Amino acid sequence: MGSDETEWSGGCACGTVRWTHPGPKTRNLLCHCDECRRGVAAGYTAVLGLPVKGLVLKGTWQDYRYTPESSRGFCPACGTRLWFRSDLWPDEVFMNIGTLDDPARYVPDRHVVTGERVCWAPVPAGSEMHEGFSVAPGETP
Ligand SMILES: [Zn+2]
Ligand SMILES: [Zn+2]
Repeated sequence: MGSDETEWSGGCACGTVRWTHPGPKTRNLLCHCDECRRGVAAGYTAVLGLPVKGLVLKGTWQDYRYTPESSRGFCPACGTRLWFRSDLWPDEVFMNIGTLDDPARYVPDRHVVTGERVCWAPVPAGSEMHEGFSVAPGETP
């Protein structure tokens, strides 16, 4: 940790979409909600919250609006899911950690929407668990 001064960077599987952000992050969490599970086609999603301001995207991407207030960005060439956005947090973008160039740099500090967690999803000892998601950046519910 303590590496927030360094730029974050990532991209999709085929390299069509690249992203960078100067930081600092707003949140880093694992989300267990049904929408994320389907949205990334995995048991849960790991996301890095960042201010929209500062995000630099290169390439060609699409946004899929899957609920009235939420959308997911993806690469139309390879299908990699890149980010999640919600009108509930209009100033944040949640980048999918699997797209990071250095995913080991990311250490999630909380699990959210735990009521929808699949029983086999691992939860490391000592993790913060939250039933909801509506936590403002930097806030502890
Ligand atoms: Zn791609
Ligand atoms: Zn979710």
